[in-house]
Amino acid sequence: MTIQSNPDLRRALAARVRYYNELGIYDLYRREAQGPESSTSPVEASTTVLETETPNEMPRKTATAAVPESNIFEVLTPKPELSVSDPASALKLIREDLGDCTRCKLHKQGRKQIVFGVGNPRAELMFVGEGPGADEDAQGEPFVGRAGQLLNNMIKAMGLRREDVYIANVVKCRPPGNRTPERDECDTCSPFLMRQIAVIKPKVVVALGAVAAKNLLAINAPMSELRGRFYDFMPAGLPSDPSWQGARLAVTYHPAFLLRDPRQKGEAWKDLQMVMKYLGLKPPKMAT
Ligand code: SF4
Repeated sequence: MTIQSNPDLRRALAARVRYYNELGIYDLYRREAQGPESSTSPVEASTTVLETETPNEMPRKTATAAVPESNIFEVLTPKPELSVSDPASALKLIREDLGDCTRCKLHKQGRKQIVFGVGNPRAELMFVGEGPGADEDAQGEPFVGRAGQLLNNMIKAMGLRREDVYIANVVKCRPPGNRTPERDECDTCSPFLMRQIAVIKPKVVVALGAVAAKNLLAINAPMSELRGRFYDFMPAGLPSDPSWQGARLAVTYHPAFLLRDPRQKGEAWKDLQMVMKYLGLKPPKMAT
């Protein structure tokens, strides 16, 4: 009986690995491949969500995004970026580790290039969308099309410049026809996003749209429930870092949605104002 052919065995192994992770043990070693059963196990993800209420504050939720079991061995592999302290160098090591990635089927569905992420490696504020579109695929940079221009305006309205923040997506390759990335694609790619967040150590992550929010928080809820509050967020599947207690995560509308329904821009601005208040940002003064 192999691990690959026995779902119960796979689940039990993944549960054991999580148990070790919870004890703070990450350096587990896997034997070199002996045969076909050595590939990772495609099993379903699980979710842990704890709810807390703090008096006199915006209601907050604590969310621990689960590590999909299909990535459990990816998670256990020692991460090269942990050997450096400079976030710019760490991001380069993550990019090298990603390589010419073929880990999910998006690599063979017409992508021109991988869109890794862009911005300040020490950003206090990070924006996360769902995946690259045609412009991003062509230019190799997230949020450069019309939605990107709107995101730039949103960043400017917060009193920041695009180069002050860091911008990335849940999946790094363009889904064909701009379809929503599928669960297995998000599960395969998001560990790299988690590693990016862990080296940048932002104070706030803004999830742009429901796909980003659901993947970061492992919460399946409509936007109306996801918005309007902060979540305590810690990237899943990585060793704890004494220098960083995690980020606050806010959810707002994806700029592409705001282009389709500009009436919601006021609601998005409320979300950003909540973030600005937390970061102590003031909108730029208008020229008179
Ligand atoms: S979407 Fe992510 S996991 Fe899939 S091929 Fe691209 S980089 Fe690799």
